[in-house]
Parts: sequence; C-alpha cells; structure tokens
Amino acid sequence: MEKIKVTLAKGDGIGLEITDAVIDILEAAGAPLEYEEISVGEKVYLDGIKTGIPEEAWDIITRNGAFLKGPITTPQGGGYKSLNVTIRKSLGLFANVRPVKAYHPYIKTHFPGMDVVVVRENEEDLYAGIEHQQTPEVVQALKLISRPGSEKIIRYAFEYAKAHGRKKVTCMTKDNIMKHADGLFHQVFNEVKAEYPEIEAEHYIIDIGTARIANDPNRFDVIVTLNLYGDIISDVTAEIAGSVGLGGSSNVGENVAMFEAIHGSAPDIAGKNIANPSGLLNGACMMLVHLNLGEYAYKIQNALFKTIEDGIHTGDMKSEHTRELVGTKEFAKAVIARLGQSPEHLTIPKPTNHRIAIPGCNIRRVPKTLVGVDVFIDWVAQGRDPHELAKELQPLAPNGTMLKTISNRGIAVWPGKERDIFCSDHWYCRFVSKDYSATDGKAEFSYDAIVELLANFNKAGFNFIKLENLYTFEGKRGYSLSQGETS
Ligand code: NAD
Repeated sequence: MEKIKVTLAKGDGIGLEITDAVIDILEAAGAPLEYEEISVGEKVYLDGIKTGIPEEAWDIITRNGAFLKGPITTPQGGGYKSLNVTIRKSLGLFANVRPVKAYHPYIKTHFPGMDVVVVRENEEDLYAGIEHQQTPEVVQALKLISRPGSEKIIRYAFEYAKAHGRKKVTCMTKDNIMKHADGLFHQVFNEVKAEYPEIEAEHYIIDIGTARIANDPNRFDVIVTLNLYGDIISDVTAEIAGSVGLGGSSNVGENVAMFEAIHGSAPDIAGKNIANPSGLLNGACMMLVHLNLGEYAYKIQNALFKTIEDGIHTGDMKSEHTRELVGTKEFAKAVIARLGQSPEHLTIPKPTNHRIAIPGCNIRRVPKTLVGVDVFIDWVAQGRDPHELAKELQPLAPNGTMLKTISNRGIAVWPGKERDIFCSDHWYCRFVSKDYSATDGKAEFSYDAIVELLANFNKAGFNFIKLENLYTFEGKRGYSLSQGETS
C-alpha cells in the first residue's frame, strides 16, 4: 500500500516523548504513513518568530493536508501569538472536534458510559480578537457570527453524527440575551436540522446546557456550539470524563486538518518519561479515520483500551485497577504488545472509512435598508445626566430625523423618568427618521443625514468614538433595542 505523507511537529515539553511513543505505535500497527517533520513552537518563538512557525512550514502543511501536532508551549508576554490560533485562522480550520469518553471503571469518573463529542466553531465569535478601548472607562470586544460560518459548522456536526452513527445533535447558544448573534446560530441550526430528519435535534441555552453536562452528560451525544462556549464545555466534558490526558482533538478545514491531544506541553513533567501518550494517540487515530485508514485506528484503539483494562497505566491514570505503573515508553510498548487484541469491557464502534465531506453553504444576499444610526460618544459633562445630554443632542438631528434614545451600558437612560442608574463615560445616541414609529421602524434614513449628523457632533464639540448603522433586512430589525427601549 502506498504511504500517505503527513506533516509532523513534535512540539515542546512532553511533546517530544509522547510523539515518539505515538509514532512507534503507528509504525508497529503498520499504518501506511510517512512523516515530514517541521519545527514549530518554543524554539521558533525564541528565535524571534512571533508566530512560532517558520514561513517554509506553511507550504509543507498545506501540501500534505494532514498534520499531527504535539503540544506547544506559548512563551508568556513579549507579544507571542498562540500558534494554535494562528494555524486555525490561517488555514481555515473551522471545526474543532473533541470526542470525550469515560474509561470506567479503569479511570475514575462519576459518569460511566459517558461518550460525548463537542463540535466547536473554531474561527469566529469573540476569538476574532477585535478589541478596542474607546473611552477611559470602556473596552469593547467584537463578537462576530456569520451565516456561512454557522451553516458550515452546524452542517459539519450533522454530517459527523451521520458518519459516526450518532443519534442526536444538541445546539447550545445564549440567544435569550444575544438575540441577533447567537440568534443567527440558533436560526441556522433550525434550518439545517430539517435536512437531517433521521437525527434528533435539540437546543439548550448554554448556561443550563453546561450545568446539565456537568450533572448528567449521558443525555448528550454530539454538541455543536459557538467558539467561546465550545472552548469551555469541551474542557468541562474532558474533565468530568476523568480523561484530560486521554482526549484527542481534530481541527478540520477544507484542505488541511490538524490532529493533536487536548492537553498542553506539561512542562512540569517534561523529560521524565511519565507523560501519558494516549491523548495524542487518540488524536492520531482521528487522523487515520480522516485519511480513510479507519481499520488501523480501530486496531490501535482496541490495543489501547486493552492496555488500560489490563491495568497498565501511566501515573495520571492511577486507580484501584492499576496493576503496573509505567512510563511513557513502557506504556507504548504495552500497547504495541496488544495490537490485534480486543478489550473485554471498553468498547469502541468500528470507525467508518468515511471522510466527512466539508459542507458548503448557501450564500444569499438579502436586501437591507438603512433606518437609523447609533452615534457612540465619550461624555462625562453635566454630572453625566442623560437629560442634559439629550438637550444638547436634539438640535443636532438633521431635518426629518430625531434623537430616539440615549443608552448607557445597554440600558435606555433617555427618554423616561430620571432614575438612579450608574452611567459610564460610554454612551450611544440613536437617531432615526421622524416617521420611525409610524412605519414600525421601517422609515428610511440616508447616508447624507449620517454625514451631516457627524459634522454637527463635531461642531458641537462632542467626542464621537464610533458609529453603528441601523439596518433592516427584508423588513426585519437587524439591531438590538436597549433595555427599556420601545421599538
Ligand atoms: P497542560 O495541559 O500542559 O498541563 C496541565 C496539567 O496536566 C499538568 O499538571 C500536567 O502535568 C498534566 N498533564 C497534561 N498532559 C499530561 C499527560 N499527557 N500525561 C500526564 N499528565 C499530563 O496545561 P498548562 O500547564 O496550563 O499549559 C502548559 C503549556 O501548554 C502552556 O504553554 C500552554 O500555552 C500550552 N498549551 C498548549 C496546547 C496545545 O498545544 N494544543 C493546549 C493547552 C496548553
């Protein structure tokens, strides 16, 4: 069988030991792979490359497609960028897939039988890292959610469920609060689920969803969620399964997929031959399935489970079932000795040799109409009294427009009764057409009016810090109302 070339980076800390152990097991199992090694991580950072990856490595990664990566140490401070984030963003690795399984009773967990896969959106959300300090008191982080990005990850989650014989996909969002951003993700979930009637679909608000994961993870099968929530719940699931050292993960994109352990480089135990290589081995098995070499993944995971069942454990797995505590190299040897054997209790489904097709998305442009503008200002005059502010702003509205609301920290503080609400130095002032209410928020606003309004703010000496245009899309409001604001 012709060998498939994959990229290999051994990483830092325990990375060197665990990748050597994993490669030994892959070779012994006869996996038809050839490794092209690149150097990334700490050494590269300390050579002055702030991304942690040399330019020439990109070509190798993209040419080979599959990339097995040991954990990386990100040096503290000094403007070093997380290599993982750089790789995910640069290569469009939109799906982070983390299967988590309990190895009960061999590894302690409160949840025997737990078997959950978290499919986390990997490119968008607050992880775009777009932050601005706008006033001395207020910093903003932009949460960007796109329809194509949501559609791609949600369809991927359903395709994953289908390919792996999973029965249910649960979506988690916070759309009771972020009605537009998380609301879009939930709405796309509802649209996509209709294409997969054979798979059960449900939605949880992320807070109660996380609580349910922590209390009763067996009710979940595949979970699909936004980047930040996925980051958090995938650690929760790994932790309660008792298997942080055992979890593997894939980061999948259209042309490249990266496979790794979920843990880090564990500098505290590096070089001691005590690290557990199972997490990276599980990541490598995900890579084999991705390369349509599922039979090798099956053989290796059976041997791994048999080793665990036989009580051959690294220190982190120690329990009353441990018969022999071994080091990294000895653990790898024990797995190799069991290749071809099957566990008695820990079972794994036979991996399907079915590479998940990267889903497309239906991009459609819908007409949008400008119906107003929010002008954000930095203002602390007049005892921060919004009623005084309104008096100064009302004359600035161009002909045919009006000041509708002044808000502070998401609360409408004008018009309305004076209340004792703390106001920061960061205000947004909503201007709309005078016909706004009569037309149910559909009366058009003009770009000329925005330019005139800003000139008026400037002349009046206001420090405007940003603008947000208010649009409707096919007649539907595309912006939130402040707490207490009437539409
Ligand atoms: P960590 O996962 O490296 O270690 C946390 C704890 O778990 C430590 O006590 C460690 O000894 C133990 N541990 C981790 N893996 C183990 C294994 N295979 N066998 C036995 N014990 C294991 O997390 P950390 O200490 O917060 O981070 C260390 C470094 O790793 C940091 O520089 C961080 O940025 C980096 N990191 C990298 C990745 C990655 O490359 N994907 C992920 C997480 C953290």
